[in-house]
Amino acid sequence: MTDMRQRLKDLADQVRLHRYRYYVLDQPTLADAEYDALERELRSLEGANPELADPNSPTLRVGASPVDGFEKVPHRTPMYSLDNVYSEDELRQWAVRVQGLLGLADGGIHYFPEPKFDGLSLCLWYENHELVRAVTRGDGETGEDVTENAKAIGDIPLKLPAEAPGSLEVRGEVFLSRKRWEELNRQRTAAGVAPFANPRNAASGTMKLLDSREVARRGLQFIPWQFIGPMVARTTFGLQMEAVGWSAGWAFVRLPHMYEGPGIQGVIDQIERWADWRQTLPFDIDGVVVKVAGLDLQERLGFTDRAPRWAIAYKFPATQVTTTVLGITWQVGRSGKLTPVAELEAVEVAGSTVRRATLHNADELARLGLKVGHRVFIEKGGEVIPKVVALVPGEELRDLPAPVIPATCPECAGEVGKTDDAEVAIRCLNPECPAKLVARLVHFGGRSALDIEGLGDALVEQVVASGRFEQPWDIFTLLQDPVQGLAYVSGLERMAEKSAQNLLEALDAARRKPLARWIHALGIPMVGARTAELLAEAYPSLEALWVADEQRLQAVEEVGPKVAAALRAFATLHPDLPARLALLGVRPEPPIPRDLSGLPLAGEVAVVTGTLPSLSREDAEAWLKRLGAKVTGSVSPKTTLLLAGEKAGSKLARAEALGIPVRDEAWLRSQGS
Ligand code: AMP
Ligand code: ZN
Repeated sequence: MTDMRQRLKDLADQVRLHRYRYYVLDQPTLADAEYDALERELRSLEGANPELADPNSPTLRVGASPVDGFEKVPHRTPMYSLDNVYSEDELRQWAVRVQGLLGLADGGIHYFPEPKFDGLSLCLWYENHELVRAVTRGDGETGEDVTENAKAIGDIPLKLPAEAPGSLEVRGEVFLSRKRWEELNRQRTAAGVAPFANPRNAASGTMKLLDSREVARRGLQFIPWQFIGPMVARTTFGLQMEAVGWSAGWAFVRLPHMYEGPGIQGVIDQIERWADWRQTLPFDIDGVVVKVAGLDLQERLGFTDRAPRWAIAYKFPATQVTTTVLGITWQVGRSGKLTPVAELEAVEVAGSTVRRATLHNADELARLGLKVGHRVFIEKGGEVIPKVVALVPGEELRDLPAPVIPATCPECAGEVGKTDDAEVAIRCLNPECPAKLVARLVHFGGRSALDIEGLGDALVEQVVASGRFEQPWDIFTLLQDPVQGLAYVSGLERMAEKSAQNLLEALDAARRKPLARWIHALGIPMVGARTAELLAEAYPSLEALWVADEQRLQAVEEVGPKVAAALRAFATLHPDLPARLALLGVRPEPPIPRDLSGLPLAGEVAVVTGTLPSLSREDAEAWLKRLGAKVTGSVSPKTTLLLAGEKAGSKLARAEALGIPVRDEAWLRSQGS
């Protein structure tokens, strides 16, 4: 056998194996992008060596063979796959091909970019307005009848209203939110069952269950992305927009952020926006499906033997990859919390090299069953720090030593333990642990706190190592004697006199930063940036905050008994802090009290929940504030109004239970702008 023939065969075998693991077992051992790379390589080698191509190559099949247990059903029209592109350039090339095939200019073609949901596709057949069958994609020609399971999905209407076409096929995606996936994995680990590597596997595993009651409990969701039927065929231009619009009226979930427009540039702009939006979605999307709008054009373009020519999937750079854990180290946080960190064999994820990933706490380590030497899936999401998601299936069987939970602080060798029995985290109990001071000082000068330019991690470590400061705010003693202060800072490693000067200036400016930033910077447990803002509004100075008792503190929005207790404890620990800061020349700027009394929503305490018809959550909050309302994040007895959209969950239930008035977007608009 020639080398090339052997290479093709090996690749085909690997592709087959990974497809089996992915589709049938729901236990992939490769991240999607790694699998895609294999398949791409096979495709391109087959393309270059057509004489060697295997007629049974896995590239000629869409999915995988259906599993046993469900009735096999042939599709009425095949369920095609989608061709992928991975860059703007490739997308433009696709558009040029489409223009060529249609003989139209770029501006003469309308496109409809949709999110590419990372789930599994499902066909719904409606006859006489009733759901009669739900069929999985299977191998594209034949799927499985999963009607009972589909009926257990809340988003799937069992009956269409009279205004919908009576006979209709709806194709769309079944998926699981990240939150439900995490909950499910927690239950599975507790029960000793292997967790699902990602929400998609969890969704697909769920659709294969033979007990639809269990399916109902899992909380799957469904969003339609294609409509097939005689009535649909009659509309032409703008089909997709219209179809989605109608279908929302028939109780289907509407595609988020719809856009349709001429020319590929508009699509590229939209894809850029999607790259941001995806961070805020409660479920995963792995790209954007770009479709040529208009059934007439779609018909003219037709299909290749595996995918439509009128659609293409633009894939986002991978955020999940596999790599090996080389070690586990423990990082000390500002309250002394020890966080395990996985030291990884370096890998590229979403354009950057990753060598470390957080493991949150010892419980998470146990949940994952992670040991040094394991291969793992890691993921870089909205957060900056990547995390370990799961072991690669099979790794749990390897005989490796269990990781050691440190008995003493890795930084100061001090005693470690739990400060609160209810807590999972272990902490360094040494109040003088230098690692704590490092973390506190980094937070103190960080972006969301005092934002002190030049006070980076490396500098902070040196400053703490010099032993000159006990508390983060002691850094302001450098300003007391400017000559000595400058001499000290310039004496630090890699500090030019100019940068030293800049740092001192930044420190000086920080002394007059807003009170809210100061409250946040102090690092009071449980007091984040938002609570700090609310506190600063209620208490115009640190002195005033320091003497407030727990009862009074709780009158502030979002301050409950725990936060109030944490504040009191901090004030008791540092009784002279306000005086000390005053001595150091710190003069926080109190918030300018706004006179809201004339505004229509003055005195209201509002919470926003669910998806509003046209306003994003941020827009709605800004709107409420403009009208004089206070906006908080959670419903409490202090809340006076809930602005709710579609899919409002627990907040709505709680507001109703508390008898809080619930309003909608139309109401908000009627209040003024
Ligand atoms: P692939 O699995 O890479 O062949 O991609 C095709 C699959 O993408 C389809 O079978 C659908 O399950 C899925 N998909 C997700 N979102 C969409 C969408 N908006 N339009 C079409 N297909 C989608
Ligand atoms: Zn320590």
